Amino acid sequence: MAERKVDDRFKKFGTVSFTSISKVNDFVDQLEQGKVMGTKCKDCGLTFFPPRADCYKCLKSNMEWFEVTGHGKLLTYSRLEYGPVGFEKDLPYAIAVVDYGGYKVFGRLAGDLPDEEIKVGMEVKTIVNKLPSGQLNYVFQKV
Ligand SMILES: [Zn+2]
Repeated sequence: MAERKVDDRFKKFGTVSFTSISKVNDFVDQLEQGKVMGTKCKDCGLTFFPPRADCYKCLKSNMEWFEVTGHGKLLTYSRLEYGPVGFEKDLPYAIAVVDYGGYKVFGRLAGDLPDEEIKVGMEVKTIVNKLPSGQLNYVFQKV
């Protein structure tokens, strides 16, 4: 019987990976290379983060990757004192939305940022982060 090969690269993402199989598994390889990537529809130009393989507007899958680079502005954030199952050891942490102009990125603020230094509107960059477990994610770092 032939061995079935499963592309489950996404299991390496995040404190708790909620899915191991996706159409955008290259995202994890790109994180391993130090790049945080989104996707852009080649037909209509819509940009997606988290990356999507399919465009809801065109109903096609004609995507290209783009790197989340440069600085974004912190739109909003929330400090979590209570975490979902699996995230308890990460507490406290802050989830945030960063505006890059043409697209927005949802993620976490870097854990070493004191509360009093977090200001809506501040400039941040998105960087790859390796968790103590060896899992990969990305965080927003103040610039
Ligand atoms: Zn499109």
